[in-house]
Amino acid sequence: MRAATYLFVSDLHLDARLPAAVDQFLAFLARDAREVDGLYILGDLFEAWVGDDDPEPCRSRVCDALRDYTASGRPAWVVRGNRDFLFGPGFEARTGCVLLPDPVRVTIGALDAFVSHGDVLCVDDHPYQELRSIVRRPDWQARFRALPLEARRAIADAARAGSKAHTGRQAYTVMDVNAAAVITAFRVTGTRLMIHGHTHRPGIHNIDVDGQTATRIVLGDWYEQGSVLRVQDDGRYELLTLPR
Ligand code: MN
Repeated sequence: MRAATYLFVSDLHLDARLPAAVDQFLAFLARDAREVDGLYILGDLFEAWVGDDDPEPCRSRVCDALRDYTASGRPAWVVRGNRDFLFGPGFEARTGCVLLPDPVRVTIGALDAFVSHGDVLCVDDHPYQELRSIVRRPDWQARFRALPLEARRAIADAARAGSKAHTGRQAYTVMDVNAAAVITAFRVTGTRLMIHGHTHRPGIHNIDVDGQTATRIVLGDWYEQGSVLRVQDDGRYELLTLPR
């Protein structure tokens, strides 16, 4: 019997201003993702998401393609990223995707993984973590969602510009995952595999956790090419680049 296979992607940052990435993801959904048993999207699917009621054409196209994918009988699970943390029940209704908490434990056959967008592990970036704790509060989100669409879009644009300025100022290491946070996550959960995105530094890292080898897989972004992790329920996995 063929091993059940799942694909993981993250940090697509889909936006009308980068149509090549949108086209590549739509082709990926129509082809590659249909050849496997399901799809995990680990955050920052969109460059911005200002609410489930946003009818913007590019994002709607992607939502419709996800709807077609899930309607084909394959599940798609989504973890919120720092760009699309406002995904809610309306996004699930538009796409047929299932939102997951962050972090979340994912079991695929022999693999038992700690799965996250990854920003929770970047604890050295204090200003970012402070912002994160504010915008994840239900009262902040309720106030934001109550604003007119145009106001929400303007705030998101300003936040994106602020984020660019902030990441430009921060040291490279400050914006990576914190090594102690990674080890704590492995210890607390007992898992020995971690899959995340967010840092845009694709790679597979083996580290020692209390005398055992633990593996941290980092997905890449889709700015210039695709990045996908292929996982089989027999325990095999492969981190692939999809040329554009
Ligand atoms: Mn991110």
